[in-house]
Amino acid sequence: MNTLARDRTLLISDLHLDPAAPGIARQFLAFLDEAAREARALYILGDLFEAWLGDDDPEPAGREIVAALRRLTDAGVPCFFMHGNRDFLVGRRFARETGCTLLDDGTVVDLHGERVLLMHGDVLCTADTSYQRLRRILRNPVVDFTVRHLPLAARRRLGRRLRAGSRMHVGTTAPAIMDVTPDAVLDTMRRASVRTLVHGHTHRPAIHHFELDGQPARRIVLGDWYTQGSVLEWRDGGIELRALARN
Ligand code: MN
Repeated sequence: MNTLARDRTLLISDLHLDPAAPGIARQFLAFLDEAAREARALYILGDLFEAWLGDDDPEPAGREIVAALRRLTDAGVPCFFMHGNRDFLVGRRFARETGCTLLDDGTVVDLHGERVLLMHGDVLCTADTSYQRLRRILRNPVVDFTVRHLPLAARRRLGRRLRAGSRMHVGTTAPAIMDVTPDAVLDTMRRASVRTLVHGHTHRPAIHHFELDGQPARRIVLGDWYTQGSVLEWRDGGIELRALARN
């Protein structure tokens, strides 16, 4: 291992870490202490956690992840965190404790000399109108502030209700509706003046090539970690969307 090169940037999303599925956390902890240590930077594009009820939740599995992210940033690897729809309650205390920098959904970054738009991806699923309605309510600043200040027990109840609602919605909604809308992708990329978009959320890992106003463009979709890991490796020479086998 070349510990000095730091030639690649790593991007991940949708681990959906859950105390009920400890194998995913084990794989992620190994990833943080090994591959990520060699990286130039790590970007986490949302839904790291299946549920995050607040930075004050003492639940041990979450604390273990916070400590592991801290080890990574203490080792000199910058780590960036973007909210997903499952962990939108990650806040400033999490950022302080982990050393991660919080990124707004829809941030343009420079990756190895290229302007790249990073998103979680859920706002691109515009055909899913009932989901977008719920998202607008939950992410309304007043609602967000209120939820963050509820007692932990009340946030726990609310989280259970939201997850049950989500399961029912996913079970009764056509797969095409839960994917991104092509026009929303084009509009969003045009507004951000980028030719490359990276997002997660849909759990459909792929690199899509297409034309945007006559120019080549691409949309890279990160995969989930339910049955294996998924990481986008970005080097000066190119990109690779890799699956990581789980031991
Ligand atoms: Mn998501």
